[in-house]
Amino acid sequence: MQSTLNISASTQSFIDLEEAHGAHNYHPLPVVLNRGEGVFVWDVEGKRYYDFLSGYSAVNQGHCHPVIVGALLEQAQKLTLTSRAFHSNLLGEYEKYITEYFGYDKVLPMNTGVEAVETAIKLCRKWSYEVKGIQPNLAKIIVCNENFHGRTINVISFSSDPSAKNNYGPFLMGYESIPFNDLVALEAAFQDKNVAGFLFEPIQGEAGVVVPDEGYYKGVRDLCTEYNVLMIADEIQSGLARTGKMLACDHEHVRPDILILGKALSGGVLPVSAVLCDDEIMLTIKPGEHGSTYGGNPLACAVAIAALRVLKDENMAANAEAMGKLLREELNKINSPFIKTVRGKGLLNAIVIQHSDPEAAWKLCLELKENGLLAKPTHGDKIRFAPPLVINREQILDCVALIGKSLAAL
Ligand code: PLP
Repeated sequence: MQSTLNISASTQSFIDLEEAHGAHNYHPLPVVLNRGEGVFVWDVEGKRYYDFLSGYSAVNQGHCHPVIVGALLEQAQKLTLTSRAFHSNLLGEYEKYITEYFGYDKVLPMNTGVEAVETAIKLCRKWSYEVKGIQPNLAKIIVCNENFHGRTINVISFSSDPSAKNNYGPFLMGYESIPFNDLVALEAAFQDKNVAGFLFEPIQGEAGVVVPDEGYYKGVRDLCTEYNVLMIADEIQSGLARTGKMLACDHEHVRPDILILGKALSGGVLPVSAVLCDDEIMLTIKPGEHGSTYGGNPLACAVAIAALRVLKDENMAANAEAMGKLLREELNKINSPFIKTVRGKGLLNAIVIQHSDPEAAWKLCLELKENGLLAKPTHGDKIRFAPPLVINREQILDCVALIGKSLAAL
C-alpha cells in the first residue's frame, strides 16, 4: 500500500510535545484536533473529518451538543462541586430522573467507566455475603473471555488480554472466565454455589464489536434468575442508544440486576458514570463504605440530565438503528477482497480486515484519515465504525464512499 501520509510541521509539533511530556500509553493516529460539532471534528490545519470513533462511544449525541454544553455552562457558573459531605440541589433531581428513565430503585453515581465497574463488583460481593449468604471471601464472579471493562488492577485481573496484564501482577482472585456467547459454559460455571454474579458486555466493543447470538441475553437472564446470580450488564459502550435501543439488553427485553453506564452519560463533556440496581442490592452499601469526591457532583448531574434528555428528544436510538442498517448494507456492497466481515448492531459496527500485511488495518485508518474520516483499529485487524448517532443518510453514503476509496488504495 502506498503511504499518502501528510503531516505538517505544525501538526508534528503538537504530536512531539505529547511524545516528550506525556506517558506513552496510547498510540494515536497522527491527527491533532481542536474543534468538534455533530458528526465532525476539525484538525489544527482546519481540515474536517467524520468522527467514526465518537470518543469510544462517549459522543453519541454528537460533538458539543448545544443542549448539553448549555447545561454545562449554566451550571458551571452556579456550583460545580460540593463533595458528598453536603447535599446539593441537583443530586436528588438527577437520581430521580435517571432511576425513572431506566426503571431501577436507586443509582450510585461515579465518574469514569471503570469506577462504575468496580462499584458494581463491590455491590455484587456485598449482596452475595449479606443477602445470598455466601461464606466470607468466597464469592466468585463469572466474566467472559476477551472482555474489556477498564484498566484498574482489579479489572485487569480478569482480562484475557496479555497487553493489559503484562507485568502488572499480582492480580486479584474471585473471578472465572468463560467464553462469551456460550450459555452452556455459563450454566456449567453456575454449578458452583459461590457464584455471586455474571459480569458481561452485551456487545464486546473493544474485542472488535462481537455481537452474540439472538437469545443470548434472554438465556443469561433466565440462568441468572434460576441460580440466584446477579446479572451485571456493562453497557458503558453498548448503552445509551448506540445499538439502536436505549440499552443493548432492550433488544431482548431483558432487565439486568445491575446496570453499568458511562461514556455517553455526559455526551462526551466530562467523566460521568453510574450504577443502577434495586434496593435489595444497593442498600447493602452503608454510609462511609464507598464513594468518590466527584461522584454525583452538581455539574455532572446537570450534564447527565441533559445528555439523557437529548437521546430521547432527538430519537437517537431509532436513528442509530436505521443508519446502522444502511451503513452495514452499503459496506457489504463494497467490492473489496480486504473486507473479511462487516458486523454490528445499530451504530456500533466493525469491519474485519484480511490482508497479507499485518499492519493493513492501521494503514487503512491512515488512508481514511487522508480522505477525511477518523477511525482506529482494535486488536490488530478490526476497525470500529461508530459515528455519533446524529449522522444522517447522506453523510452515511458519503462515508461509505470514503471507505471504498480508501480500501481501493490498500
Ligand atoms: N467497560 C466498557 C464496556 C468499556 O468499553 C470501557 C471503555 O472503553 C470501560 C468499561 C472503561 O471505561 P473508562 O475508560 O471510562 O474507565
